[in-house]
This record gives sequence, structure tokens and C-alpha cells, in this order.
Amino acid sequence: MQNRAEEDYIKVIYELTVEREKSMIKSTELSEYFGFTDQSVNEMIKKLKKKHLLTFLPYKGISLTQEGKKIAIRMIRAHRIWEVFLAHNLNFTWENLHEDSEKLEHASSEKLVESLYQYLGKPKVCPHGNPIPDLEGQTEKIDQLSLEDVEEGEKFVLTHVLDTKKLLEFLNLEKMNLYDEYLVVQKNQFNQMIEIKKEETLHFISFQIARMLFGYLVV
Ligand SMILES: [Zn+2]
Repeated sequence: MQNRAEEDYIKVIYELTVEREKSMIKSTELSEYFGFTDQSVNEMIKKLKKKHLLTFLPYKGISLTQEGKKIAIRMIRAHRIWEVFLAHNLNFTWENLHEDSEKLEHASSEKLVESLYQYLGKPKVCPHGNPIPDLEGQTEKIDQLSLEDVEEGEKFVLTHVLDTKKLLEFLNLEKMNLYDEYLVVQKNQFNQMIEIKKEETLHFISFQIARMLFGYLVV
């Protein structure tokens, strides 16, 4: 058995590797994502490795084992199905979904999650645009392009974002929503900022945040 903190790590590693079609992730990316110290992240990695839920190759990175992936898929599926329910049926806003879905995902039986899924009409994505995997982990194809990789002068449509409260609060504050179209006005490598524009409104996005926003180019 794993506890909640462990399950959350497993879930995030899955989101940052499998869902982004990458085989591995560096531990520093996890520290950046959670905002924890490298030391606490490394301790958790050691713990999960001992439980055979992930493999860790020094200088290369971390990936989940089959067992780790199975747990991640179960958690992610429950989490996103609950999010759809809370957003559609109870009108939760997208930054307020996380906390309750987080608790519910750990507390729901598989039977409950599957009934809810049927009840909601088998949704394909959560309110953050992230795909709901089937029980084998198969999902719809999602856009892999992050805003960080969009060049100046290109137009970008935001289709999914990482599900972290701080990010969603930031997007709300900026009035940025899914399916909005943005023009990349300027990318400044020196101060690591991207200036984007929707209609007449400018937004200044750090590279770090841009790595959490995904979509496709308008051609
Ligand atoms: Zn979500």
C-alpha cells in the first residue's frame, strides 16, 4: 500500500513522462513542479524505488515501473472523472477542482469511479483539457507542444494545462482560458519571459509557466 503523498508523486511522474511521450524525467523537474526542495524529492524517490514503483538511473532520470503506472492510471482516471462531475454538475471553477478531486480519488472504489464515468457519459477530457485514460492507460492523442516552444510571430491555441492550483490561480488572474488563441509577441531568453497577446491584452509568462501550458499552432 502507498500513502497519499506517494500516490501523488506517482501520478505526477506519470503526467510528466507518459502523457508527454517522454521516457524519463529529472528529479529537478519534480522539485520545480511541487515547489519542494531537491532533498525531500530525492527522499521520496528512494522510498518509491524501494517499493518497486519507479526506477531511477543517476544522471538519466526517473520512470515508473509497470506497477507504478497501474497505480497512476487508476488515480488519474478517478481524479479526472471526479473533476468532470464537480465542474459540470456542481459548477466548481477549474482552480477549485483540485483539492476535492484529490481527496475523492483516494477514497473512491473502482466501482464508484466506473459508475460515475458511465453517468457522466464517458467524458474524454477533464476540465483542464487533460485526457481521461481508459483502464489500460490508453488516451486520446493530446497536443504535445508547450508554449515555451512556440516561436515569435506564431499563433498558439491553448488546449490543456497542468493541474496545479497555483498555475490555475495565475491563469484566472490573467483571464486565460482553454481554447483561447494567443500570438507570441516576444521571447526574451535573458529574463526568461514570453510576451503573448490575445486580442488587445498582453500577458507576460515566465518560461517555467510556459512549460505547463500546451496546445497547437494555428497555421
Ligand atoms: Zn484536471
